[in-house]
Amino acid sequence: MDAERREVADGHLVIADGRIAAVGAGAAPTVPEGARRIDGRGKLATPGLVNCHHHLYQHATRGYAQQATLFQWLVALYPVWEHIDDAVVAAAARAGLAALARSGCTTSTDHHYVFPRHAGDLLAVEIDAARAIGLRFHPCRGAMDLGASAGGLPPDSLVEDRDAILAASADAIDRFHDPERGAMVRIALAPTSPFSVSGELMRETAELARSRGVRLHTHLAETDDEEAFCLERFGVRPLEYVDDLGWLADDVWLAHCVHLNGAEAERMGATGTGVAHCPTSNGRLGAGIAPVPALLAAGAPVGLGVDGAASNECGELVDELRAALVVARAKAGPTALTARQALELATRGGARCLGREDELGHLSVGALGDVALWDLAEAGFAGIADPVAALAFGPTRHVHALLVGGQVVVEDGELRTADPVTLAADLARESARMAQVAA
Ligand SMILES: [Zn+2]
Repeated sequence: MDAERREVADGHLVIADGRIAAVGAGAAPTVPEGARRIDGRGKLATPGLVNCHHHLYQHATRGYAQQATLFQWLVALYPVWEHIDDAVVAAAARAGLAALARSGCTTSTDHHYVFPRHAGDLLAVEIDAARAIGLRFHPCRGAMDLGASAGGLPPDSLVEDRDAILAASADAIDRFHDPERGAMVRIALAPTSPFSVSGELMRETAELARSRGVRLHTHLAETDDEEAFCLERFGVRPLEYVDDLGWLADDVWLAHCVHLNGAEAERMGATGTGVAHCPTSNGRLGAGIAPVPALLAAGAPVGLGVDGAASNECGELVDELRAALVVARAKAGPTALTARQALELATRGGARCLGREDELGHLSVGALGDVALWDLAEAGFAGIADPVAALAFGPTRHVHALLVGGQVVVEDGELRTADPVTLAADLARESARMAQVAA
């Protein structure tokens, strides 16, 4: 996934000071004194995968509203989400990030937009979780200010005041955003969706983000219902609505973009606006299939996202490669997307969405030492001719090793930064406690 898309059949990778110091064919030319060696024989090394859209707290509410459309699903879940607190978010975030790590992800975003009063410092809690699991993290300070009484979808009890949102957004940047190269934590600002935030909040958030040099994220064009909402309320389709608000630009990436026409896909490419493609979630909610080939042809950055675990109970990023392939091909035939293109979405494409294509998403000298090592010698992969096809089309897989900035997160197929049994027990307990309170 470097600039030349080199594929090395038998090679080496050297990581020093958190960055790739050497990569290429054969044995490493020089190995730093005291270096730790990882034997990669029979394995496939890829750049660590980049997850462009998630709602980690939803790991605590999986399996609800199984036959619902997005709007029905949200209306069913908002009353449960009113009861999240710091303990629920901590357990859900740790479990969700561990699932991402095992599935090859080294950098994840999170879009957190539910901030019940007195729930605690939820953004700090999930940043702590990312530090503990060891992933690079881009939390997005989400927000909702358009409650049901003002024509929005969420209940009034879950929306925040606009000035409070802007103050909390500035505070999140002050406390957590690291603009330096190699950053482990970067903040983005992310009003939630056209049907849960006001246009004023979208505009003012964009001004704040641009004055502070952070990126912008939101959901857009996910469902027919959203399109109908925008046509009725604003008289325009979702993309034109956010275009008028200054939200199509190369510092913005949008989740979903399922319902775009050809001219709108072109507009995404012309403005350099990124897309977080979430094929499993879009299938789970019956939302449709995003026009990824048209977006790629237009030059738009396209990354992959697992989306929140309440609409993708799996939450494992490598599975989105296969999902992206099969939905694109189900819609437009077997040449619609290749296995290598799917891997590119999950690596280079995601890095572009986050504005970090210089240092993430490829194995090149100088890039960050974020590497996934996949064991393709396992029985299920026996005889698959091409390692990239094995990864993208093959059996469900977990990484053999995962390195973030050269630090070991997974080794010998096991998470080294937390105990998965404890993570699962904590999540089950907090999820049940919240469900009980909500009931
Ligand atoms: Zn989402």
